[in-house]
Amino acid sequence: MFNGERQLNSHRYQAQLKRETFTILKRGILWASYVSLALLFVVLVNTYYFDKEYYDASILIIKFIPLTLIVALGIFTAKTKGLFKVTVHQTYFYLGLLVSSWSLVLISLALLSEQNMPGVESLADILVLVFALALFPNRNIMILVILPFLAFSAMYHSLQFSEAIVYPLTKFLCFLVIILSGQKIISGWFFKAIVRNIEKKKLLSQFKRLALIDGLTNVSNRRHFDEVLLQECKAANRNEQPLSIILLDIDYFKPLNDSLGHQVGDEYLVQVAAILNQALERPRDLVARYGGEEFVMVLPDTDLDGANCVAAKVKLLLSEAKLSHPSSAAGKYVTVSQGVAQWQEQEQVSALLARVDELLYQAKANGRDCYVSQTQPRSAMQVI
Ligand code: GH3
Ligand code: MG
Ligand code: MG
Repeated sequence: MFNGERQLNSHRYQAQLKRETFTILKRGILWASYVSLALLFVVLVNTYYFDKEYYDASILIIKFIPLTLIVALGIFTAKTKGLFKVTVHQTYFYLGLLVSSWSLVLISLALLSEQNMPGVESLADILVLVFALALFPNRNIMILVILPFLAFSAMYHSLQFSEAIVYPLTKFLCFLVIILSGQKIISGWFFKAIVRNIEKKKLLSQFKRLALIDGLTNVSNRRHFDEVLLQECKAANRNEQPLSIILLDIDYFKPLNDSLGHQVGDEYLVQVAAILNQALERPRDLVARYGGEEFVMVLPDTDLDGANCVAAKVKLLLSEAKLSHPSSAAGKYVTVSQGVAQWQEQEQVSALLARVDELLYQAKANGRDCYVSQTQPRSAMQVI
């Protein structure tokens, strides 16, 4: 592999890694939104039933409104638009809103309570854990979000017990160390899993390619051709567009193998396949090795006239290639016989293949190095 190619691969790899990391981050933020709703509910129930003397629940509900609206908006957007379509900017903007509105709730709780309340500190600690888990794929953003909540929790405790500064400081440091080291371990596993996933996908697409390509000539194999032809027949039927196929067979290939050897025969097969590829211009056209020294072309959105042009081009390109053939009765160089057929409405794939095979047989019978196409009505044949 070239250096440049390796770099390109690693660049693609990084881009995919970034994409997958961002998807997990978005899922984490959505999860934090659901947890936020649950937390709000728990805080309200606690306030209403147990902390009546500290808070006025009706005032508290008003303070919860911005957060509730933002979370509802976030969940609604994710559900209607689909997480996949949410952009980087939208995600970080929403995260900023979520964190700010949570900060507002915390500050409101702290200011509303007449006495210092352990519940406020616990809520800040819970939020540290929620955001640490939600944002673990991105260390910098995670730190940026959890640090203010951690600092708030430590400060709130210091205000409550102004004489004991060691405990909140120790808690702050312990939380930070545990979360940062935990993040390192989890993100390590996470990145390994993503890397494995990317490699698996790459391998799968390579296997898929190998299963569809002919090993010698590098054009599609029979299996791929069968699949494509069926799909194209359905598409032609649906879109009411013409579809043609050409079946080609190298003339006197057995004598060629006998005179020049199998290895040269193989090389000729590769060269003929390349010439057939060269004759096609549209991306949807397909060349496949039908078997042995037979090839087939699928030409979507092409009528018989168009297919005849392709057959003529193949004949011309092959004559220009001048692949010498010492034992051919059709000339000095390698030639092919071709059957050209246009798919007819409601025609079965097997019937089309039988028809084009018959046309190829006619081309052989007509002395080879020619193509035979079927014009409407079915009985009329055209030999060129
Ligand atoms: P015709 O003009 O009637 O088509 O005569 P032909 O000799 O080409 O036809 P026939 O079907 O009798 O022979 C096909 C030959 O193609 C037989 C086989 O040895 C050769 N062949 C098939 N597959 C390969 C291959 O992968 N490599 C090589 N070198 N030869 C192959
Ligand atoms: Mg043959
Ligand atoms: Mg042949």
